[in-house]
Amino acid sequence: MNMAVDLVQIRTLAQAKEDENWRFRKFLKADCNLDEDEIDERVFRITRRVWSRIDCTACANCCREMKPSFSQEDVERIAVRLGLDPKSLNDAYLERNEPLEENPWQTRTTPCPFLKDNRCSIYEDRPSDCSGYPHLYKTEFTSRTMGVIERTFTCPIVYETMEELKKSTGFFRRRR
Ligand code: SF4
Ligand code: SF4
Repeated sequence: MNMAVDLVQIRTLAQAKEDENWRFRKFLKADCNLDEDEIDERVFRITRRVWSRIDCTACANCCREMKPSFSQEDVERIAVRLGLDPKSLNDAYLERNEPLEENPWQTRTTPCPFLKDNRCSIYEDRPSDCSGYPHLYKTEFTSRTMGVIERTFTCPIVYETMEELKKSTGFFRRRR
């Protein structure tokens, strides 16, 4: 089955599910009888299955909509790739991230300036924020559901993983 990668379509789908997704978040935190490790395992399994049905190169919604963050190591590695010094890279493309964020830099504009012809032009050296996106292979899924719900509006993998996880965890069978 092919999944929608069109941004307008995925936003419409996510909008229709938003209230339910907040209820699901509450269910995972308070009413689900699976422990956190088991929920993480299910998220990993479902993500693998969902991702196999999605062509990220036909999508690139994340590269068009998000501002990825960059560590200092990311900046230095990408500057070498582009034949720039780190300051020139920052001046051209990046701005300071919010003070409490883990990584000090983020792109200044969307779409990402490194997106060319719907492909990442620095793919092998892209920041770890991008290589880890959409962050479904991280542990402690239950404590990260706010960001996950936000990403259902752009990323079809996240949208579909949430839908399958609801079925897998018994969310629809719960007493209302
Ligand atoms: S650096 Fe590459 S993968 Fe990351 S947002 Fe930009 S184009 Fe996309
Ligand atoms: S990670 Fe999600 S938003 Fe990004 S290209 Fe793949 S499917 Fe699209």
